[in-house]
Amino acid sequence: MEQRFKDRTAVVTGGANGIGRATVLRLLHEGASVIVLDKAGEESQPVQALRRESSAEQRLVYCQADVTSREQIMTALEHGTGRFGPADILVNNAGYGAPSKPIERVDRSEWDELIAVNLTSVFLVTQLVLPSMRARRFGRVVNLSSGAGRAPSPNLSLVYATAKAGLLGLTRKLAHEEAENGITVNAVAPGTIFTDRVRTRFEQNTPEQAASLHKIPMKRPGTAEEVASSILFLASDEASYITGTVTDINGGRYMG
Ligand code: NAD
Repeated sequence: MEQRFKDRTAVVTGGANGIGRATVLRLLHEGASVIVLDKAGEESQPVQALRRESSAEQRLVYCQADVTSREQIMTALEHGTGRFGPADILVNNAGYGAPSKPIERVDRSEWDELIAVNLTSVFLVTQLVLPSMRARRFGRVVNLSSGAGRAPSPNLSLVYATAKAGLLGLTRKLAHEEAENGITVNAVAPGTIFTDRVRTRFEQNTPEQAASLHKIPMKRPGTAEEVASSILFLASDEASYITGTVTDINGGRYMG
């Protein structure tokens, strides 16, 4: 395997499961040192599995941290960068959605929670990581938006759609501001990706779920590895002239 990320340090949020986990494993495999921030406990099954499957445990630092807490992010970053040096790559991946419901049934706490985990977290982590990228005039930031932030998705929450669309605004504005500092900022917008969490949800096999898979032109869900491939490309040196973009990864479901 090509060592595209040799001597690079990457920070990946939400790296214990799903797309984040696939990204961490690929980055390690291709030579990066990786700092994972995730709320999952150090002794939890996903974290144990991540350590077992990582090709280079000595290049992995796992920090249990809630990315909606500035203090926890700071502590984790200090620990990780103390070991591997400042971050060259930041993958803002932690996040989750909720089922759709009419606006009058969305309570304030649900609004605050989904905005915090999907949008405010990206602001907090990026704000802390960016200055060292600027100082070294190199950085790659990749944000996990969603198809729900690109076009209305009947099954997904209004708040989630709002947060993921907001993240595209953050991506473009930050890309514009940092372009002259050697830092690129891009987003990916996955459609239905069968991570363990999503596959379990689809195992209910409701008529709505079957119909939603049938609407995908490729007639199948995507894999976490297929999303990780795009993330790694955007994080690589080859993507040097790409900034402020969004890559749709959805089997043809939405073509922007
Ligand atoms: P996942 O649930 O499999 O993994 C998410 C990880 O984030 C988990 O390890 C979880 O512990 C962590 N996390 C959640 N909240 C956190 C917090 N407050 N602080 C720290 N860590 C936290 O999710 P996934 O399906 O791999 O999704 C990853 C990203 O991709 C999310 O932002 C999601 O919205 C986006 N996305 C996923 C899909 C899909 O179909 N899987 C589609 C579109 C967008």
